[in-house]
Amino acid sequence: MSKPVEFCTCTDRDCPFNPVNHDQGCTPCIAKNLKAGEIPSCFFNIVDPEGKADRGAYLRKDFARIVMEME
Ligand code: SF4
Repeated sequence: MSKPVEFCTCTDRDCPFNPVNHDQGCTPCIAKNLKAGEIPSCFFNIVDPEGKADRGAYLRKDFARIVMEME
């Protein structure tokens, strides 16, 4: 059994890919994000910890825009 992902800051605990709902660590989340052209929420939370930015659909372009706005 995998260890829990203690550094995961995703707040969507209803998501089936959230590590609280299985024992496969980040793998299901990363796989889903790669397939959908998205960036995991933990990356958004690092650059926008207060959640002030419009995260759009969590797409790569949304992440890039926020990075440019915040940094
Ligand atoms: S990749 Fe996904 S599961 Fe892993 S820490 Fe980030 S949000 Fe959590």
